[in-house]
Amino acid sequence: MSHRAATQVIDAEAKTSVDREIEPKRRVTRTPNTATRAANTATGTANMVMVARWEARADLVVLGSGVAGLTAALRAQRLGLRVLVVTKAAVGDGNTRWAQGGVAVVLEGEHDAGDSVDRHIADTLTAGVGLCDEDAVAAIIAGGPAAVARLRGLGARFDARDGLLARTREGGHSAFRVIHAGGDATGAEVERALVDTAGARGLPVLERHIAVDTLRTPLGAVAGVTVLDPDGVPGVLRAPAVLIATGGLGQLYQATSNPEVATGDGLALALRAGALAADVEFVQFHPTVLYVPGARGRCPLVTEAVRGEGAVLVDGAGAPVMRGVHPLGDLAPRDVVSAAITRRMAAAPGGVDDHVFLDATGIAGFATRFPTVHAACRAAGVDPVRDPIPVAPAAHFACGGVATDTAGRTEVRGLYAAGEVARTGLHGANRLASNSLLEGLVVGERAAEAVAADLATGLLADPRHGRAPERGLAGVVERDALQRVMIRYAAIGRDAEGLAVAGSVLALSTVDTPLWTHEAIEDAALTLVAGALLTAAARRTESRGCHVRTDFPERDDPGWRRSQLVRLSPSGHPVLADPVLLEGAA
Ligand SMILES: Cc1cc2nc3c(=O)[nH]c(=O)nc-3n(C[C@H](O)[C@H](O)[C@H](O)COP(=O)(O)OP(=O)(O)OC[C@H]3O[C@@H](n4cnc5c(N)ncnc54)[C@H](O)[C@@H]3O)c2cc1C
Repeated sequence: MSHRAATQVIDAEAKTSVDREIEPKRRVTRTPNTATRAANTATGTANMVMVARWEARADLVVLGSGVAGLTAALRAQRLGLRVLVVTKAAVGDGNTRWAQGGVAVVLEGEHDAGDSVDRHIADTLTAGVGLCDEDAVAAIIAGGPAAVARLRGLGARFDARDGLLARTREGGHSAFRVIHAGGDATGAEVERALVDTAGARGLPVLERHIAVDTLRTPLGAVAGVTVLDPDGVPGVLRAPAVLIATGGLGQLYQATSNPEVATGDGLALALRAGALAADVEFVQFHPTVLYVPGARGRCPLVTEAVRGEGAVLVDGAGAPVMRGVHPLGDLAPRDVVSAAITRRMAAAPGGVDDHVFLDATGIAGFATRFPTVHAACRAAGVDPVRDPIPVAPAAHFACGGVATDTAGRTEVRGLYAAGEVARTGLHGANRLASNSLLEGLVVGERAAEAVAADLATGLLADPRHGRAPERGLAGVVERDALQRVMIRYAAIGRDAEGLAVAGSVLALSTVDTPLWTHEAIEDAALTLVAGALLTAAARRTESRGCHVRTDFPERDDPGWRRSQLVRLSPSGHPVLADPVLLEGAA
């Protein structure tokens, strides 16, 4: 069913219904984009400061309507908070609905012999290659069964077999513990259940509104956000708490499994608000997206569960890619598989240097078990039942992000983050497959509870004191050029020279641009996040997890078994905030 129909959709025309919910301060006449620009210019804004033309209030503004945002918003609403969800596209657009494999969880009485929450924790730590926060891993994984039970309570339906939930296995998991829905359409079902519940409970959702920047009090607390409505009319949402749940940053790269909305907006917004980011150099590349020559934008994923059910990676000459590479073979952790494919492509066996093949012809009932993959293959003219599927790695998941605790709190008062945009310490240098929907469910819930607790104890600022930043311009690199540079120099197999080239391209082609359109906001976010990633990747002179340096191929535990923190300098540039750099400078 249509997400739009299921939700209490509040768009520009119907904003009055939001206002009833969240106390309007001022209504404005709709003004087209050009008039808004004229209004900005007319106020003599030499520094191009945005002039808000409408305003609303809430206790909590949630940015994003994926698994993390909606889970948090629904919980906050249950706790009696006035919540407003802001989402820049349609309510169901985001990474969540594309998730295929499932949710990793060890459920009481429904697990492999010998499997346990502790084993799930151990697998997560192994995949994270020494950079996970062990307390965070334990807290989040242990919260999984209850979070899944709550989601099922909201109506999410998972696939069953013999009266129990069906379970599959993905890379890095030592047991069959990944529950799924609709075969390989788990995210769509998770999102459907959350969107339907939001609609049924009258949760206010502002669709096609994009968050620009935070409001800050003179003491630095966050007290709301500035947004552009679908016509580009700027507005202000005042709230003592803002939860960023804006998802990932896959659009930083030319090839990605992420949809168009994954442009790193929330990470950029948090950095500009003074928050710290961590582990941003670790971008997981999914080993297998469907390879279509010349394709751009979102590439269809071929879920790891296909390998879980027996498919094998072979190169252009038909030789197995993973033989002798890792004890888990085709089900080795993603970073290992992606790096192995990249190396094999570089050798161009059979003259094929930009993809390999996934032979799934031995899987019985492929079309029923993997309907999404099957449909994507057929649309590209490939019959996976008869032919090996051409596949290649693509940017898939941001392991790092806004530094938070497991309740979503950042360093900045009033600012919270959950889901893929956040770095709780669960993923370390490499996410274990199917741990991210789980993280969104667990931390989304806890973040709502943290906001309620912080409000109750009077920790948060009075939103009337929030001011928009005096900056109206941000550095922007043209998106196409940025994506090409990032895939070439900052994907799998980085080196100092390439990272420096990418940094120079960014420095030379950045143009100061007013944040007056959705596109400019996204491009500014991509540019800032690219700068943060390049800074951290250049500094980390080792290979670990998703960060593969060809000039430093070994892991260096004594030097690098630690996360790097990034913040913005007073001039607005990403800089490392880690102790080693400070020591080096002394
Ligand atoms: C193809 C694919 C398959 C995957 N498979 C799995 C899997 O099997 N299991 C698993 O655990 N994980 C999987 N993942 C990862 C997982 O789907 C995501 O990490 C997770 O869904 C992220 O949820 P989220 O709520 O953080 O963000 P999202 O679901 O991405 O939602 C982000 C939201 O923020 C909004 N937004 C962004 N910027 C702004 C802004 N400036 N203003 C307002 N709104 C904004 C977006 O419109 C969107 O609503 C997969 C990801 C992909 C792409």
